[in-house]
Amino acid sequence: MDKKKVSKNAIAIVVGLVALAVFPVLSGNPYYIHLVETIMIYAILLFGLDIVVGYTGQVSLGHAGLFGVGAYTAGVLFMKLGMPFYLTAPLSIVVTAAFGAVLALPALRVSGPYLAMVTLAFGTIIQILINEMDFLTSGPLGIKIPKPSFGGGAPMNETQYYWLVAALLVVSLVVVHRVLKSHLGRAFEALRDSPVASDCMGVSVYRYKVYAFVISAGFAGLAGCLYSYSEQYISPNTYNFELTILFLLAIIMGGRKTRLGALIGSTIIVMLPKLLDDIDSFRIVATALAALVALGAGYALSRKTVTPRKVAVPVAGTIGLAAFSYGINTLTDWRLTIFGLMILLVVYYLQDGVVGFVRKFLMHGRVRTVTVDTGKPVEIVADAIVSVRDGGDGKGHDAHDTPILNVRDVVMQFSGLKALNHVDLSVRRGTIHGLIGPNGSGKSTMMNVLTGIYVPTAGAIEYAGQSIVGRTSSGIALSGIARTFQNVQLFGEMTALENVLVGLHHTFRSNFADVGLMSARYRAEEHAARVRAFGMLRFVGLENAAGEEARSLPYGKQRLLEIARALALDPKVLLLDEPAAGLTAPDIKELVTIIRKVRDHGITVVLIEHHMDVVMNVCDTVSVLDFGQKIAEGKPAEIQSDEKVIEAYLGGIAA
Ligand code: ADP
Ligand code: MG
Repeated sequence: MDKKKVSKNAIAIVVGLVALAVFPVLSGNPYYIHLVETIMIYAILLFGLDIVVGYTGQVSLGHAGLFGVGAYTAGVLFMKLGMPFYLTAPLSIVVTAAFGAVLALPALRVSGPYLAMVTLAFGTIIQILINEMDFLTSGPLGIKIPKPSFGGGAPMNETQYYWLVAALLVVSLVVVHRVLKSHLGRAFEALRDSPVASDCMGVSVYRYKVYAFVISAGFAGLAGCLYSYSEQYISPNTYNFELTILFLLAIIMGGRKTRLGALIGSTIIVMLPKLLDDIDSFRIVATALAALVALGAGYALSRKTVTPRKVAVPVAGTIGLAAFSYGINTLTDWRLTIFGLMILLVVYYLQDGVVGFVRKFLMHGRVRTVTVDTGKPVEIVADAIVSVRDGGDGKGHDAHDTPILNVRDVVMQFSGLKALNHVDLSVRRGTIHGLIGPNGSGKSTMMNVLTGIYVPTAGAIEYAGQSIVGRTSSGIALSGIARTFQNVQLFGEMTALENVLVGLHHTFRSNFADVGLMSARYRAEEHAARVRAFGMLRFVGLENAAGEEARSLPYGKQRLLEIARALALDPKVLLLDEPAAGLTAPDIKELVTIIRKVRDHGITVVLIEHHMDVVMNVCDTVSVLDFGQKIAEGKPAEIQSDEKVIEAYLGGIAA
């Protein structure tokens, strides 16, 4: 970032903070103060919900329930034990986070619509429990709570409480932002983009989904607690299905993966029902909206940035909405219709929410440039991979000629098909071991078995003398087996540098508190990781693409990026599944150089490849699979002249 931009941001932040602080004084109207207070409380919850929905890509219909748990923890602790705010607030966070864990542990074994159902059931059960547990919650009667008071003084007034909420909003925003920019946030994003690659980079998908739910629940708990003091009365009906939908709507409309989006979304869901209650103000808003959309569409058309077809529907939609608002005096429940229409419009035309839309509009025609601040001149980081290896624990420099991978009599059966049929494979340390064979012969299946994605039906697999059968993918990855995928599995929405940083996740010891407080340990780890990641990119010749989104890289570079990410794991064994597929001739030459360099650093390589020149060029040993069985093994030259291999495989391809 350049200095000018930083100071501009700083000015915006200061202006925003001052406006937030003086609003109650300037407004003086308790109704509006309370309204903004509610917006801020919802925003705190939405910061947390966005971690689950926007970052990890999971649906949660249980957040109204968690909000209720937070509110009732505060309410019950106050009513039964007379606890002050400075105790109820942290306890609300802790109790709700625990409920989040209870929800996550079983719920995250399922995904998609099943997850939606489980979280929905959770929300419903919470509401029923609050209703039925009279002895604790006073059931439908609800609980009355005065505003917090400090040091035995009088309860705070509306303005003072507003400031308390505003301060906690700012703290929440800073903490959430830090967490999402850290290795934790990268883990959340990675598991959404490619769960299988996350696991194979040592980032346990299951564990980080649970973390995301627990952190998210903590914020819901804080929001619930603040809400109970804000309303000064809580009752079970508030925490219903409608509120859960409203929260999701706020994330979708504001835009996922942005804190500003959460603020905008929360403003929309608090203000919209108020506006819709008052038909006249709604007319004004609808008309203004229609005019704005028409204006924007006209501008976009004149600049030829969109096609008329794309403009027609949103313009017709909003103008229709405006017209509709003039003709609906007699309808009783038109609010729901409008909500429905808005959801449709947003889902179809504002997929990245208001923030995403504005960002795209401002960015139009400009290329986004991201510079990578490694904090050190490039020259110093250039040989990161070398220094890592040499300064390491000597892992890669063990004696040659002892097997590092030992596969014995492995069978992998898929219903009727034996993808691997009693295969033995012995990979010697520090060598490049080729694995070839026709399509469907079981090569990728072998890699999936070696990395714990499949558990073999029978047989034994030893890595560095220890069995790895039945261990998790992330555990196997952390013990030193890294891989790439036949169908590239990058974290698409993350930059090239961030992709490699996920591979470096194992170098972090910092926890949530370190990140929230930006401890010295965390800053040192993050800096070291960035330097190393940049070195990895340089190693595969991608240093100039560090700031580019992985999904927008050309295919050949994506394959190289996968190798850099795998190397970040600091592996003893690197499994490459058809790395040259789709590469141009010069890229393949580059690849061969890289594979050799990797081996020279002491890393054992297992290479699946169809390009025979590559295989013959770099491999020390080659094993040939056909119909799940090993039909030959030996030095490249021996394989090339083997009758069985020529018949089964080499005869069919231009070697
Ligand atoms: P290769 O990588 O050598 O081209 P694969 O290992 O991908 O071959 O596949 C070997 C055989 O196993 C193929 O017939 C494939 O259809 C089958 N197979 C692979 N994975 C599965 C799976 N998850 N379920 C069922 N069959 C599978
Ligand atoms: Mg394959």
